[in-house]
Amino acid sequence: MLTKPFNAKAVLRKWVPLLQLEGWEIGLESFDCAVLERGADGDKTAEVFLNTKNMKATIKYAVHAPTVETDVVHELVHLATAELAAVPQFMANELSPQTRSLAQAWTEGADERLVCRLQRLLQRLGALTDAGG
Ligand SMILES: [Zn+2]
Repeated sequence: MLTKPFNAKAVLRKWVPLLQLEGWEIGLESFDCAVLERGADGDKTAEVFLNTKNMKATIKYAVHAPTVETDVVHELVHLATAELAAVPQFMANELSPQTRSLAQAWTEGADERLVCRLQRLLQRLGALTDAGG
């Protein structure tokens, strides 16, 4: 069965304006596999590396993951919540190392849950068309 190759640039052209991420410089890095990394709590099929100070991000994704569109959009949603997730970093000088570590773990967990919730919302609205949507 021939399937249309995944076009990450087209996904960015559609989703950057919808998520209002025009201020970000977003790079893409595709990997010719279905899973980036296998883990105890699930396989990782995409991840984003971001810097809120210079507004640069790189999304790495497994191009053969059946959920690749959803995976890339999920990472884009992380950019929309990046400032909130980075609050413990912004306050690094005001927090003890232990408090900072707790705040970071707490905000990372809350951020991931929010991003997953928004991703499911987009799926329920029919905005994502791959196996994840
Ligand atoms: Zn995530």
